Amino acid sequence: VRVLAIETSCDETAAAVVDDGRHVRSSVVSSQVDLHARFGGVVPEVAGRAHLDLLTPVVEEALERAGTSGPELDVVAATIGPGLIGSLLVGTAAAKAYALAWGKPFVGVNHMEGHLHAAFLEDPDMALPAVVLLVSGGHTMLILMTRDGRYRLLGQTIDDAAGEAFDKVARFLGLGYPGGPAIDRVARDGDPAAVAFPRGLLHEGYDFSFSGLKTSVVNYVKKHPEVGVADVAASFQEAVVDVLVRKATRAAADVGARGICIGGGVAANSVLRERVQEACAAHGLAAFVPSRAMCTDNAAMVAATAWHRFRLDGPTPLDAAADPNLRLALE
Ligand code: ATP
Ligand code: MG
Ligand code: FE
Repeated sequence: VRVLAIETSCDETAAAVVDDGRHVRSSVVSSQVDLHARFGGVVPEVAGRAHLDLLTPVVEEALERAGTSGPELDVVAATIGPGLIGSLLVGTAAAKAYALAWGKPFVGVNHMEGHLHAAFLEDPDMALPAVVLLVSGGHTMLILMTRDGRYRLLGQTIDDAAGEAFDKVARFLGLGYPGGPAIDRVARDGDPAAVAFPRGLLHEGYDFSFSGLKTSVVNYVKKHPEVGVADVAASFQEAVVDVLVRKATRAAADVGARGICIGGGVAANSVLRERVQEACAAHGLAAFVPSRAMCTDNAAMVAATAWHRFRLDGPTPLDAAADPNLRLALE
């Protein structure tokens, strides 16, 4: 089964062709980072217009690199939510139009389920049950994946998402946008033990809180302007990663999971990737760490999820609307 998927939920215009949910024939991602950087964040109006310009060339390139064409596809899919409504509309409208023109079924995909599936795409034999740490720009969830496609929510952030904390702290430190990669880079020259920032909700359940940490960073820097940016960035990153990994490891032990999987843009963080592998090795768990390109927004993960959803639920009606607040179907 050959799937063409389109991803336009935020500020990357992406298209991919994936066979049987695992063989990636092409994956094209056109980032709008340069367009938004001067505003210090994603501007929804700008993103929607840019998707409109970029979508057709990105889809054509994905088909060309895959060595395929519309008539050879079995499914046309698109992210249908959550995300920016103007951006989602561009991708879903285009996918529906292609589906209609080529006479193929359309499948609307939940973007977060896409992030969840990224590890599966690269490692179809992932041992289940697994605890999935889903950490992105807008979400932070600890999920138990019991069977392929069955998710139970163990905990989530009660305030800021992990990626949001990276972006806000980076902005405050003058490191620019997007913040996660900037902090990751600068922190390499810093001491993660320089400042003991708070670990929110560390010992309480599986929920997360990052807004107190962000405030601590701001207050600390105002009080100690002499401390270097690299040390502050490294200490902040350490506090985030420490909580994420300790909670995921505790959850895995509590529920008897066989492994820990990470997904979402923050899963591209070098320290998080290392720590998850170390913690899994120490606790006899399997670590599922997708490649960096599979962690940040891409359409291959959407295509893999679409293949899976198509097998379980069949096509999505063409009148299904893009939903900026679409929730993940949890058990
Ligand atoms: P969502 O998936 O919740 O709808 P999104 O699609 O905007 O939000 P992603 O593209 O999955 O989010 O991830 C982007 C986030 O990941 C940003 O907050 C970014 O700062 C963060 N990020 C990317 N690379 C890194 C990194 N190396 N270290 C830490 N954070 C990172
Ligand atoms: Mg993005
Ligand atoms: Fe995302």
